[in-house]
Amino acid sequence: MEKVTIQAMAKVNLGLDVLRRRADGYHEVNMVMQTVRLYDTLVLTAREEEGILIHVDAENVPDDDNNLISKAAHILYQEYSIPKGVEISLTKQIPIAAGMAGGSTDAAATLVGMNRLFGLGCSEERLKELGVRIGADVPYCIQGGTMLSQGIGEKLTALPPAPDCILLIAKPDLYVSTKEVYQKLDAAALTSHPNIDAMVEAIKQQDLLQIAANMGNVLETVTEKEYPVIGRLKQLMKEEGALNALMSGSGPTVFGIFADEQKAKQALMRIRSQGLAPQSVLTAFAPGAQVIIETA
Ligand code: ATP
Repeated sequence: MEKVTIQAMAKVNLGLDVLRRRADGYHEVNMVMQTVRLYDTLVLTAREEEGILIHVDAENVPDDDNNLISKAAHILYQEYSIPKGVEISLTKQIPIAAGMAGGSTDAAATLVGMNRLFGLGCSEERLKELGVRIGADVPYCIQGGTMLSQGIGEKLTALPPAPDCILLIAKPDLYVSTKEVYQKLDAAALTSHPNIDAMVEAIKQQDLLQIAANMGNVLETVTEKEYPVIGRLKQLMKEEGALNALMSGSGPTVFGIFADEQKAKQALMRIRSQGLAPQSVLTAFAPGAQVIIETA
């Protein structure tokens, strides 16, 4: 095989709780992750010449070794004797620094794509083991779907797929650093926590109203305080009929869950007309993290 084209899906957090800060600086989390049908496209091509060549179509994303794609490729070259080089072209559609795991899902897709391209024969478990060296969310991004994520994010328990709904994603024109948000979070001082057990139960029961009722994210205490537009977006979505609206990950992306497509479209139009979030789309949950759309 000489070429693999792969769609790398984004995620939202239906629930995000932080239990404590560990001595090594990592945070212990309790999260419910959900893959979203919003994706970057990676085209991986084998080359006769050695080395990793990366092309990126977005200005704010590095095209050198700082790109998580490059880190993923380097790990595979260290671990396996791959006789060829690789060229990877990345087309970004997932908002950048947005709390939607854009970089992590690109890294995950690189591991999955190179495994396929070069016939490395790695199991999903093995790819996850390699992926956690890149970032805590990468193992989740390899598997995707609806998942309980614990530990530092690497302990995964699969849940039944969340029920279908209309998802409105709105990314204000801000860049938020995940690292800084976690540094600013005072986990010991949190006075309320989302009920992750109730969220898991609602998903098991396929009860969209209870899923909406149990959405919560403790990182809003940091990012929403700093950027009031996040609160305005949530309010607007609820006024327009969202079952609920929440910030994803460390933000600033806000997502709203709707049962009625017309209401979601109306909310999207209002967000656009008020200029609150230039990157806004209607989408849906997706069952898995990647789609391989073409091999040659
Ligand atoms: P998370 O939800 O996992 O915290 P995020 O969506 O908030 O991630 P990313 O879009 O992954 O954030 O980007 C964070 C930073 O990582 C960017 O500012 C960029 O410089 C760097 N980066 C490295 N590789 C990538 C990539 N493939 N796509 C996007 N950003 C990347």
